[in-house]
Amino acid sequence: MNNPFELTVMMYHYIRDPGDAAEAGSGIPGMSVAAFEMQLDELAKQHRFVSWREVQMALQGQSNLPSSACLLTFDDGVHDHYLNAFRILRGRNLSGLFFILDRTKDDGLVLGHKIHFLVSALGVAGLWEAIWRRLNVAERERFTQAETKYQRKYPANSLDGRTNLLKAILQRDLSVQVDPILSDLFEKHIGSERETSGNYYLSIQQIQEMSAGGMHFGGHSRSHPWFDWIDAEARRMEIQASADWVGQFEPGPWAFAYPYGGLSDDSPKLLQAQGFLAAFTTQTQLVHTDPYFIGRLDGEEMAYHGRLYD
Ligand SMILES: [Zn+2]
Repeated sequence: MNNPFELTVMMYHYIRDPGDAAEAGSGIPGMSVAAFEMQLDELAKQHRFVSWREVQMALQGQSNLPSSACLLTFDDGVHDHYLNAFRILRGRNLSGLFFILDRTKDDGLVLGHKIHFLVSALGVAGLWEAIWRRLNVAERERFTQAETKYQRKYPANSLDGRTNLLKAILQRDLSVQVDPILSDLFEKHIGSERETSGNYYLSIQQIQEMSAGGMHFGGHSRSHPWFDWIDAEARRMEIQASADWVGQFEPGPWAFAYPYGGLSDDSPKLLQAQGFLAAFTTQTQLVHTDPYFIGRLDGEEMAYHGRLYD
């Protein structure tokens, strides 16, 4: 493959309609099924869809990608991907690359997903308040310091801003302290976290069915941490967990997507050592110079807030 190389990579998360089995009354919005289908129609006019296998072979120098190649990727291994994405892709004879978390139902929800449920149930202000009430003096100090640090990046003058500010604080500086607090709040306000997570993430059977239907799978860590927040040994273990998990479903070498798009300089070396050939970021980019930092376009963002390539 030439360097730099051109590849349009779409990134998707939730694809759901209110009331369907993926949304399941959670109130957590996503990209509607109709918007997803419409975007595939639009992309098809300008692109040739390629599978992970074709990208893998091109990265290994065994073949070339067609011009205007487009790869469809899906993060977090949520039920939406079986229910809606897989059904639609199979109907169009397309393949997707799904970045799954190494998780079984006994592991519960990852922090970021607990936050989604709780923001939907309590509102940002309600969740903010409920957490604050449960923090001790030292934790409140830590919280306030983090709040000051992230305020410039996530100005809290809109609802989205406040949500992103709270997420940044909880997913980084307070992640260890709030994880059990969020689980408590989940049980109190929503119900059984174990039961919810059992329906929330793809089951082994669903992954196997999707794999038999031409879908491909890549790693997305075990606990979905910011890679620039945890240390090198923790990064190594997260990547190894992904290699062990994805290896059950997909022949290597594999692809990886950085949780939250968090980057660290040592990730390529760690990924390569565990059998990963490429890694995907959340940075908007169509031309790439490094197979371990391949940028992507956010499909949901483009469907609702912008146009393709403006
Ligand atoms: Zn993710």
